Amino acid sequence: MYYPQSWSRTAKRFCVYIFVSLLIGLYIDNITLALLIALAVLLLVNYVHLYRLTKWLWQSRTMSPPSAPGIWHHIYEGVYHLQRRNRNKRKNLGQLVKRFREGSEALPDAVVVIDSNARIIWCNRNARIELGLRWPDDNGRRIDNLIRNPEFVEYLEAGNFQYPIEIPAPTNPFKTFEYRMMQYGEDQLLLIVRDVSRVSHLEEMRKDFVANVSHELKTPLTVINGYLEVLESSVEDTQPIVQKAISEMGAQSQRMRALIEDLLILSRIESSSERIFEKVIDMPSMFKQLNAEAAALNKDKQHKIEFNIDQDLCVYGVETELRSACSNLIFNAIHYTPNQGHIQVIWKRRANGAYFAVIDNGEGIEDKHLRRLTERFYRVDKARSRKTGGSGLGLSIVKHVLHHHNANFEIESTLGKGSEFSFVLPQELVAENNN
Ligand code: ADP
Repeated sequence: MYYPQSWSRTAKRFCVYIFVSLLIGLYIDNITLALLIALAVLLLVNYVHLYRLTKWLWQSRTMSPPSAPGIWHHIYEGVYHLQRRNRNKRKNLGQLVKRFREGSEALPDAVVVIDSNARIIWCNRNARIELGLRWPDDNGRRIDNLIRNPEFVEYLEAGNFQYPIEIPAPTNPFKTFEYRMMQYGEDQLLLIVRDVSRVSHLEEMRKDFVANVSHELKTPLTVINGYLEVLESSVEDTQPIVQKAISEMGAQSQRMRALIEDLLILSRIESSSERIFEKVIDMPSMFKQLNAEAAALNKDKQHKIEFNIDQDLCVYGVETELRSACSNLIFNAIHYTPNQGHIQVIWKRRANGAYFAVIDNGEGIEDKHLRRLTERFYRVDKARSRKTGGSGLGLSIVKHVLHHHNANFEIESTLGKGSEFSFVLPQELVAENNN
């Protein structure tokens, strides 16, 4: 390790040099001439060393510095030390990049690094196999020129990489790939592509299975229901136990029918490909009908139900789905709020879209349940939900409907005070000039 020569030592050497020149000046009896010659020699020596330094820096192929006396020795060693430090840093950086590349090569996913202009910087072996990229030929080419799926191009342009997308593989339409983009470094993006064909196939099978089973169960249940209704009307003169059994069977088969209906609605919404921008829904008249249905349901509970509806606010969407979502929320508030409660239904414009909320002053829901409420068959109080005839699918249906309409479902609740279930349909869905 070299340390810079101290200033006092350099100054001392300079003073000695001048002193010797002065002595020579005294000896030859011309101090000025002696000093001038001494300074000229000093300047010349320094110029020679500057020239050697420049030559070494720009022309020499060797790393080791030329030998030089005094302060020049320290300058050379200092530059040499800096160069060595930079070389080590470059080496470490190179090893880091190598390790990253080796790690990415070992991944079972396709990995592509792209810059802020969507140009490919690097891709791993799986990206070459699965996405058909060629390396290094595709280096610097735009990724959307090579993966030309419109959904992927839209995803890339939108720049919202919060969620991944699933689209068919570019090299094999029978495979489904999940594309996930993430910020990488300051202005680079990392694209990770994963084969999810098996998962999406299983998901499809699950949806089909639920839809088919529900559909197949509907017919025998209708027959059982029909016979039970006939039996119910002709059992006045039989034993009370038989009467009770028949009425209980009737109630349970009604529950099963409601459950199957909800399962069918859910699977229809899940696989719905209906376009949401095609039809304008007259929401005020839908709320008028829901108001009448709520009043009928409210006969026993005697809640005060207020509908605050913006009569000019219509939206684009799928009517059956939005009706199902709104009615589920309103009917839940009626069912789960203790008698003579207060329920508010709000439908109004907001800066970010159309806002719908159902606010009740019921018992509220504990925090620990809130996150799980939209899961299928999740119920806070199973016994109570069963009594209300609830299937546990209502909020799950709401969540899927809102997902289809690009809206987020919000649930706020305070134990003992009440709950607020709300969503905002995005501004693009608000139908302007529709009175
Ligand atoms: P269910 O068919 O059982 O009503 P949901 O999915 O509609 O199923 O609701 C799930 C659970 O959320 C219900 O079982 C109930 O415990 C709770 N819940 C829903 N709405 C309310 C509300 N307004 N107040 C209190 N609890 C509610």
